[in-house]
Amino acid sequence: MSSRAVKTEAVVLRSMRYGEADRILHLYTPHRGRVPAIAKGVRRARSRFGGRLEPFFRLHIELHEGRSELLTVTGAQTIDGHARLRSDARALDAAARACDAVGRLFETSEPHPGVFNLLCRQLGLLDERAGRSAGMVAGGGAADTDTDTGGPGATGARAAALAFRLKLLLAAGLAPQLAACANCGEREHLVGFSGAAGGVVCSACEAGSFALGEDAYVFMTEALGRALTEVPPAPAPALGQVERAIAATLEHHAHLRLMPAVGHAV
Ligand SMILES: [Zn+2]
Repeated sequence: MSSRAVKTEAVVLRSMRYGEADRILHLYTPHRGRVPAIAKGVRRARSRFGGRLEPFFRLHIELHEGRSELLTVTGAQTIDGHARLRSDARALDAAARACDAVGRLFETSEPHPGVFNLLCRQLGLLDERAGRSAGMVAGGGAADTDTDTGGPGATGARAAALAFRLKLLLAAGLAPQLAACANCGEREHLVGFSGAAGGVVCSACEAGSFALGEDAYVFMTEALGRALTEVPPAPAPALGQVERAIAATLEHHAHLRLMPAVGHAV
């Protein structure tokens, strides 16, 4: 097998120290899915890569593909470093959870350009919001103090994270069935959600399901149908049901358990 050069856009999902001065990277690319790579000498002070190979950087990257499963990074130019996001603990945490979800749900080389675009958009939105809240604090406005008490700021962040996850489910072919009972097709009296059935279930089929209220139902339907920039509002209890529905779907159909959508004390 001959070696070759690969040029692609990529987002750095993870970056782990390796050996004396190297890093192992998980990259997410539009046309090669998740790519494991090694950046040699990157931790030396005079590395030509600078700080570009850190998580959440969007890059033009050049890789060398040889016999190893790990591709070797030979060049990198920054498209977006998401600098504002890095100075905001909550945005940073949300970005880490978004990257973790993409890396685990789409862990193969199968191409999903739509997922790459979703991730770029989500990181861009987190960066924008971090910039806005920094501006508010600097301008003497009220700082967001409700982050660990479940106030409106925290609810908004959770809604955004769950809307992103629902779109990932859709891209993975795992979108929950919402229009009719996933078990019998009934369109009325949809009262529960069943991960095993893969969607909402009616009152006759509710055994083994959990209750899903109107607000949670509307949130899921709207989040799946709208752009990421238009996260539908929903009260905290409904978001709890949505998160449970996503978790049950992933557990039954992908045998996967993700981190909670948002951290508790960021
Ligand atoms: Zn039914």
